[in-house]
Amino acid sequence: MSDDEKNGSERGSLEDHREDENRKKIKYEQICAVCHRTQSQAGKMLVLPGNIAVCVDCLQKSMDAMNSPQMKNMLNSPGMPGMQELLNMHNIPLFDAGPFAQQQKVRQKQPDKKAKPVFDIHSVPAPHKIKAALDEYVIGQEYAKKVISVAVYNHYKRVYTNTMDDIEIDKSNILMIGPTGCGKTYLVRTLAKILNVPLAISDATSLTEAGYIGDDIESVISKLLEAADNDVEKCEQGIVFIDEIDKIARKNNANQRDVNGESVQQGLLKLLEGADVEVPVGATSKNAMVPMVTINTRNILFICGGAFPGLEDIIKERLSRHSLMGFCSDLKDQYDRDPDILSHVTTDDIRAYGMIPEFIGRLPVICTLRNPDRDMMVRILREPKNAILKQYQKLLGLDGVKLTFDEDALYDIADEALEKKTGARALRSIIEEFMLDIMYEIPKDKNIGGVEITRDYIEKHGGPVITVKGQELPEESPAT
Ligand code: ADP
Repeated sequence: MSDDEKNGSERGSLEDHREDENRKKIKYEQICAVCHRTQSQAGKMLVLPGNIAVCVDCLQKSMDAMNSPQMKNMLNSPGMPGMQELLNMHNIPLFDAGPFAQQQKVRQKQPDKKAKPVFDIHSVPAPHKIKAALDEYVIGQEYAKKVISVAVYNHYKRVYTNTMDDIEIDKSNILMIGPTGCGKTYLVRTLAKILNVPLAISDATSLTEAGYIGDDIESVISKLLEAADNDVEKCEQGIVFIDEIDKIARKNNANQRDVNGESVQQGLLKLLEGADVEVPVGATSKNAMVPMVTINTRNILFICGGAFPGLEDIIKERLSRHSLMGFCSDLKDQYDRDPDILSHVTTDDIRAYGMIPEFIGRLPVICTLRNPDRDMMVRILREPKNAILKQYQKLLGLDGVKLTFDEDALYDIADEALEKKTGARALRSIIEEFMLDIMYEIPKDKNIGGVEITRDYIEKHGGPVITVKGQELPEESPAT
């Protein structure tokens, strides 16, 4: 071989080697032999003998098909004689998950990072401390907060000191009466949060007598068990809030069985007083497949709440009946104007409303809440720890924008909310409506440093006052 030829063949083998190296650098994707999707499209592939790749979806589909009744029929059909026997003989199950079984892992949930409780309930905070903690969240309703603080203090003192010798302290279940949106649910939620006890909120309207369509009465305890992460001990010291309790008042219909009125009240009696109830774990209805646990409701605090529409008339009638008999007959129409008429409620009035005496007897603490007035609405807007205005201020603050509200604007929002007659609940929907434009427009312009919501903007006569970053004097311009 001449020198030239020798050099040429050396060059050739060098190029081959380079090509090989380049080929090695290229990474190939596997393709599913069934659906022909690539690994980047179909996800993880399983490589079967013979280097056949199959995606997890296709494998799952074929497993399902193997186990389908049609496939079983086919294997047993005359066209496939003895197939089933053959599989049985070799001990091959029809559905063999094999390596696929290892894939079926459900990602574990991260345990919730629970907020640190304000109090350690084992050292039972004094009533004034409970009330002070409630004050940070719930505006007004001073009387209700005081009554609840004392009731809760007594309840947990009774539970944790466990001094049940000769003098047995009765349970202090609570009945809360107040119009819709006055903060009944909010008060109970806040209470459970600051005490760090599990809370279950149920609606009395969904409860029916056992055996009828609807939730069993014991389902309220199942919910509490769920809220306590299936911890029986925690559940037995929790709080159950039964809302819309006025809807289970006795119905004056003699011809029909009252399955979601008086009979629900009857059914609740034993729970309120303290009884052992068998509840399913991890489900709200009992069936053969669900394990059961026994919960003692003796230390569970029951709070029942309701708006009791029409109760004012019963109270007024009773009060005016008394005043008509004496010297104070001139007081009669004074009750018509009393905004806080509910505070005069007695157990007789509640009985006249349709609650049975045994039921009322098991709710010894009664507290009433009043409809928020104009000033209270404004305070609810800005004072609670998690006030709606603070939430929006924080949101815009993240964009470096300072959000402020004109005093008049706040009163305007309060007036609008009062017109809706749904209590403080109306506030959020009103604010959401006019904040939408602001939340949409403001992030567009990075130069905006401040926004002031004015009465004109709320009344749709003008725009908010916008301040440019670093500029002292506010400059007026519409937000939209
Ligand atoms: P209801 O009395 O119908 O159960 P809620 O407790 O659900 O009313 O109140 C609705 C919302 O109104 C609550 O989420 C809360 O934000 C607000 N709210 C009502 N009353 C007050 C109050 N006194 N203090 C602070 N917020 C309140």
